[in-house]
Amino acid sequence: QRFPIALVSGSGCELTDADGRRYIDFLAGIAVCNLGHCHPAVTEAVARQAQTLVHVSNLYYTEPQTELASWLTDRCFADRVFFCNSGAEANEAAIKLARRYFHERGETGRHRIICMAKSFHGRTMATLSATGQDKIKKGFDPILQGFDFVPFDDIEALKAKVDGTVAAVMLEPAQGEGGVRVPSDGYLSQVRDLCDDTGALMILDEVQTGIGRAGRLFAHQRFGIEPDIMTLAKALANGLPMGAMLATEKAARAFGPGAHATTFGGGPLIAAAALATLRTLEAEDLAAEAERKGEYFRERLLTLSDRCPAILGVRGMGLLVGLELDDKGGPVVAACMAKGFLINCIQENILRFAPPLIITEAQIDALIDCLDGIFSSKEWKR
Ligand code: PLP
Repeated sequence: QRFPIALVSGSGCELTDADGRRYIDFLAGIAVCNLGHCHPAVTEAVARQAQTLVHVSNLYYTEPQTELASWLTDRCFADRVFFCNSGAEANEAAIKLARRYFHERGETGRHRIICMAKSFHGRTMATLSATGQDKIKKGFDPILQGFDFVPFDDIEALKAKVDGTVAAVMLEPAQGEGGVRVPSDGYLSQVRDLCDDTGALMILDEVQTGIGRAGRLFAHQRFGIEPDIMTLAKALANGLPMGAMLATEKAARAFGPGAHATTFGGGPLIAAAALATLRTLEAEDLAAEAERKGEYFRERLLTLSDRCPAILGVRGMGLLVGLELDDKGGPVVAACMAKGFLINCIQENILRFAPPLIITEAQIDALIDCLDGIFSSKEWKR
């Protein structure tokens, strides 16, 4: 279901198509190009590394990979990182690590993973099995065993499922594909406590929320908790394919030599791109920018919703923003595109905005004016 445009170049928050039409990008490749398109620091790092060393094998250390692992572990709970090529691969590794962790301890029956309804963790067989949306699983039976689901943000439902047979609870700190759903205050720390009480591992999928988007480097840092395992991808290398699974030393030890591996994951070229991305993100304090501009964006959407009864709600965290409508959002996406704005619709009636973190207030204002025009039309009058 592709849109009928072909994009040929990008710079900052702007994209240009083959007919020379320009768009302000409020999607950033779905929460990927957090620094904007073709950021010079990343472009320069890729060009330099391409002339130095592109690929060896994970049989050896390379400087960019080691520096990247240190950069990440210096800034969060994790002691160890496994690099891969996508969010699905990072989650696949997390699921494998959780199961292996209990296997290594002799608790071979402890393999259940409790996941959330409406979650999204990827499209490999294990990650679609962990995904709480039937449409993602349809036609791929038999899916993997051992995954159970509870409603997101319902601690009592989770308590009823977590016992000594559960290896891990796996969730997004805020659901992205599921409709930009932010949990209530205290929910994530109750999940942490429950995992501590039962010995289950806590896996946080920060593929969409991580790398500054949620107003902190990692979304969980705003909730004052630490998982045992965290997964990243999307914005990690600002558009080049990279994933990562981060874990505490205690959990990571379950992956001994040969337990899990990758040919391309964390190669020098991609690691150099990720390092340039993260250093720029930190130097320019873009997580704080995401927090500030996300608040501005939601305030403007709330004001718009006062005038438009078709808007049922505004939600989000940092610059991951959702707008719930009382009808299908596809026509709004098409109308925005015709007016030069790229946005996206999920779960049929929720508009999702995930612009580069360098988006300006003026660009947000321009989108609001565009939405105002659309919601003032007779189709959206109630
Ligand atoms: N996890 C989350 C929370 C995601 O949003 C996505 C992709 O949208 C994935 C995992 C899968 O990532 P990838 O498409 O890189 O495999």
